[in-house]
Parts: sequence; C-alpha cells; structure tokens
Amino acid sequence: MERQGNIKIASENMMPIIKKWLYSEKDIFLREIVANASDAITKLKKLVDMGEAPAGEPWRITVTTDKDANTLTVEDNGIGMTEEEVEKYITQIAFSGAADFVEKYEKAGGDGIIGHFGLGFYSAYMVAERIEIFTKSYREDAPAVHWESDGESTYSIGDCTKETRGTKIVMHLQKEESEFAQSYTVRDLLEKYCAFMPYEIYLDPKGEEDKPVNTTQPLYLKAPKDCTEEEYKTFYRDTFHDFNEPLFQIHLNMDYPFRLKGILYFPKVKKRVELDRGQVKLYCNQVYVADNIKEVIPEFLMLLNGVIDCPDIPLNVSRSFLQNDGEVKKIAKHIVKKVADKLCELFQNDRARYETCWPDLATFVKFGAIRDEEFYRRVSPIIIFKNLAGEYRPVESAYGEPLTEEERKEGKEAQAVYYVSDEDKQAQYIAMFKEAGLDAFVMDTFIDPHFLSFLEYKNPDRVRFLRIDADVASALKEEGGDDGAVKEIFEGFLKEKKIEVRTERLKNRDIPAIVNSSEFTRRMSEMNSFYGMGDMPDSLSLVVNTACPAVEALKTAGEQERTRAANFIWLSALSKYRTLTSVESAELDGIISEILGKYLTTE
Ligand code: ADP
Repeated sequence: MERQGNIKIASENMMPIIKKWLYSEKDIFLREIVANASDAITKLKKLVDMGEAPAGEPWRITVTTDKDANTLTVEDNGIGMTEEEVEKYITQIAFSGAADFVEKYEKAGGDGIIGHFGLGFYSAYMVAERIEIFTKSYREDAPAVHWESDGESTYSIGDCTKETRGTKIVMHLQKEESEFAQSYTVRDLLEKYCAFMPYEIYLDPKGEEDKPVNTTQPLYLKAPKDCTEEEYKTFYRDTFHDFNEPLFQIHLNMDYPFRLKGILYFPKVKKRVELDRGQVKLYCNQVYVADNIKEVIPEFLMLLNGVIDCPDIPLNVSRSFLQNDGEVKKIAKHIVKKVADKLCELFQNDRARYETCWPDLATFVKFGAIRDEEFYRRVSPIIIFKNLAGEYRPVESAYGEPLTEEERKEGKEAQAVYYVSDEDKQAQYIAMFKEAGLDAFVMDTFIDPHFLSFLEYKNPDRVRFLRIDADVASALKEEGGDDGAVKEIFEGFLKEKKIEVRTERLKNRDIPAIVNSSEFTRRMSEMNSFYGMGDMPDSLSLVVNTACPAVEALKTAGEQERTRAANFIWLSALSKYRTLTSVESAELDGIISEILGKYLTTE
C-alpha cells in the first residue's frame, strides 16, 4: 500500500536558487548519488566486519543508463533503508538539508559557498523530474521500500519487492537533460568525479568481462616505500592524461596532526614564458571535491599536477570560513614544507639531477619564494644561477657578509653582485669581466628582474645586483683616472644629449670607452614598461678610458680631428651597449669612411 505525504518545507522555492548555483556544474549530482551509494556500502561493511551482518556478494555500485526510458539508475549493495529510515533520511533530512543549503547560500549573498557536499540526494532534481528509490535494509525482517517524489511538494511511500539488500535510485530525467541517459556522457562524469572511489563502479555492465570505471586503490593510498617509479609514472599518465613524463614527485602521507595523502608531480615546463596552471585535484575520502582550491593548496603550487586527499577538511562550509580555518592553514603549510624539503633533498643528494631539472623548476621556485615567506626561507640556499663559465652556483654564495652597524653608518653599500640579462647583447662587458677574472650570474628569464629585486629586499645588507653594464667594477680599473681635459672633449658634444661623461683608468688599455646605464633608472624604466606606463629613457653615461693611448692622443690632435675621433669613440661604445639608430649608424659610417679616406690618401 502506497501512502502519500507532503514534504513539509517550501521546496518549490529552492529549485531556482539551486539551479542558479549549480548552473555551471550541475553534473555533480552524479557524484552525490554515487558517494551516497559508497557510504551505504561502507556502513554495511563495518557491520559485516564486526560480525553484525552476514557477508554477501562483493561490494559494488552499478550505474545504468536507459536512453529509451530516459532514466539513469544508481544501485548499491550497501546498508539499505527501512521505511522509517527513508522517511527520516530522505524525506526529512535530504530535503531539509537542501533547504539549509539554500538559506546559507542566500546569507552568503549568493556566492562564496563551496558547498560541494551537503546538498546530496536533492541535487539529483537538477536533472530528474521524478526520482524513485527501491531499497531493502540489511535487517532481515525489514520489508523492501519504494519511495517516489517529484521533489516539489509531495511524495509517496510503500512496500515493494526487492530481494537483495541495498538501494536503487532511479532518476527519471527531464526531457532537456536526456544526455545523462547517454552511456558515454555518464562515463566521462564517473571518470571525473568517481575515479578513486573505494568500491568498484560498473557502468552499463554486460556480463563476464566488465571492467570497473574507477580505481578503488589509487596509488597515493599506498605507503611511499612500496611504490615504484614506474607506478608513479603510470598513475601520472592515467590521472592527467599527460604523456610527458613528470620530472619527479612528492608523495605525501601523514596521519598526524591531520590526515593527508597525495602525490604532487613536478611537470616539465621548460622555456615557458607564462605560468601555466597545473591541476591539483582535491579529494575527500576518495571522493573528488574540486580542482585547485587555493585555501588548501597555496597558489604557487598550482603549477604542479597532483592529487590530494584530505578527509579532515570541512568542505561544506563557506569559503571565508575555509580561509580562517586553522586546520586548513596547517594543511597548506605542511604541503609547502614538504615541497621545499623534497627540493632540498634533491639538491643535497643528487646535485647533477637537480641541475638538470632546474630549468623546469626555476620559475616555480622563484615564484614560490616571492609568494611564500616560509618557502623562501627553506629554499633560499638552493636557488642557483649559471655563472659566466656556464656552471650553476647558489646565488647566496656570492653574497657578502652582512654590513656591520659601523659600515652602514659610513654609508658602505652591500656587496655588488653582477648579472647578465642577455649574453649576446652584453658580450663586450662579459669579455672584459672574463679577462679580469671576474664573474657574474646569468639572469635571463622573465621572472628574474622581479626576483633579483626580491632578493635585495630580503638581504638588504648582503647584496645589491648590478647589471654587468651598470658601472665599471672596481676590479676592472686602477687609481688615477681623473682627467678634466679628456672629460671636456666628450662633454662638448654629449652634454646636449644628456649623457654623463666620466673618465677612468681601465686595466684593459685597448678599449677607449664603454657605455654604462644606471641600474636604478633602468629598473624604473623596465618597471614602467612592464606596467604599460610608457617608455622612460635610460640614463646613460660614457666612461672614457684614460689608459688607452688613442684617448691620450686626442688631447694633442687638431680641433676637427679630435671631435671626429671622440664621436667615433662614443658611437662605437654605444653600439656595444645597444643597436644604433639609423641616424647614429649613418654618422658612424661617415666618420669611418672619412678616416679611412684620409689614411689612404696620406699613405
Ligand atoms: P548526506 O549524504 O550529506 O547525508 P544526502 O541528502 O545525500 O545527505 O542523503 C541523506 C541521507 O539519506 C544519507 O545520510 C543516508 O542516510 C541516506 N541515503 C542516501 N542515499 C542512500 C543509499 N544509497 N543507501 C542508504 N542510505 C542512503
């Protein structure tokens, strides 16, 4: 005998709100229904393990699509429900749970709800116009129950025939949701949401050779010491459908002070100019929750690919709660620590491998250091750059001792560390450095300009970075370079161009002059163009080498020759700093042919 009943809450008002919220991801209803089936099996399994219920056939969840009937059915052989339980858990709890959700949702102003859980059974009404439940409790004397409702305001309940214990949920789909009666659509969804659920899930089984769509024992659950490299790679391929091998992985596995298991993979990212997003999938007891939840996985780690299973995260609460939740912060911190430790371990134990991986890791490590104080603290000794000989060196190895109080008072600056941002363009400066036995770091990736400012900010009295063309390193010059007469010759035509002129005695006597560009001004102008605030001219200076015989000779040359030669020195120095404009190179060409012409005729 079927009884009718009224659902006591105003569920008519709920659907529009739930629809709006779920609009983009309404397919999660399937996860909710399958997760319920999985929970029901876990409950019965516990009773069986305790000897309170007899064992039966193997645990399984069966999902069946029927295009003709436009139905989707999920069946489990779990604990089942008695009539009272259906009344209580479905008619009251499931529906009031949804009402609760709606209330919270409205309070939160319509957004900020993770709420991936807690909507549960009711969410199936997103796609179904009517749902039937056939269920039989594990209690031997309990008759099977049939329940049916359109999810709006009324339901009916009564006995039915069902021989096996467990629950079968039949979703009669709305006309416009008939895609959920398509086997391939449902397969995609099961692979997305249910890939690691703990009991085998069969989709439209045909008989003997059926394979479950899920992996009930995903690799991350296994003890790290029992996993092989091959298994890690296979798991990566299967989970991320990426056929590039990852660089390496970190297997997280802890029970205290909170439970956390997972595997994070470092993908190969060589040469990319932008930070692609990776994919870190979050699970709660093998049930998929969402990708890239930034409260749990710090943003900079989103470059990684991985799976994390955190049974302790309160997921059915609002995002603002998550942000302030101490547990969640601890989880994020732990993950950051583990990642840093793994990198340090590799650096210590297998330096060659670390260096091979570095081009792929560098951006990630630098970005992480800027973003996360604790991460920087841990990885700072293992941040490396190539030197002029092409060998990797920790950047810290070039820092000076921290300035003493006294030195600071005297206005002493922190240790100057030189860097190259473009090996081709800065070739002349590099040659001079090498000749003098000086070294510099090659800092030529897109993040480096920001990163070196960051390092200076963190170590203000140990390092300041100067691009190799920013000044003349003291080891390149000798005392006694001041020469007012020479200075005057060049200022004669460079003043109007706003080029500062200095004279120095360089150890290298062959170079008449070099162009320097103020580090400070250049950085400002780089920043301006980075933020699209327009170009700002560099502030250049010409350093004239009074140790060079040609420069010395200028002083005794005739007026006209002198200006021409000085101009030649200026333009050729400039051409080693940057590409000349067409006007400048025409001028240089003119001087060269004039000098050549003269030289040849006097011969
Ligand atoms: P939640 O799963 O968050 O508790 P739901 O609305 O999904 O909320 O489900 C409400 C309740 O209905 C569950 O807690 C459970 O007691 C019962 N239930 C749902 N599906 C099943 C099932 N397949 N087998 C047994 N009980 C179920």
